Amino acid sequence: MHEYSIVQALVERVDAEVRARQAIAVHRLSVRIGELSGVEVELLTTAYATFRERTVCEGAELDVRVVPARWECPDCGGAIGRGDLLRCRLCDVPARLAEGDEIMLDRIEMEVP
Ligand SMILES: [Zn+2]
Repeated sequence: MHEYSIVQALVERVDAEVRARQAIAVHRLSVRIGELSGVEVELLTTAYATFRERTVCEGAELDVRVVPARWECPDCGGAIGRGDLLRCRLCDVPARLAEGDEIMLDRIEMEVP
């Protein structure tokens, strides 16, 4: 499942940070998930709950922030409203997705002795 591979990558990333900083515990992870990233937040949190056991993330909460899709014109930078045609009326070019397809690890709260 897609969500499991995301969680696996996430935990590996945290593991690398923990080693690099010689942290003794991880308390919280904050991730940003774009509305159009194809990730089901519910599946992601379920996958995380299962996968984190016996990893550095075992005691870490997962905060998920969903980022709504935001479109803009690649030429004039004008915002394209939600539900509008995905095209700039002024420049007559297709809109570009400015935000909303990301899968990002924003923050790791960990304890460093
Ligand atoms: Zn434009």
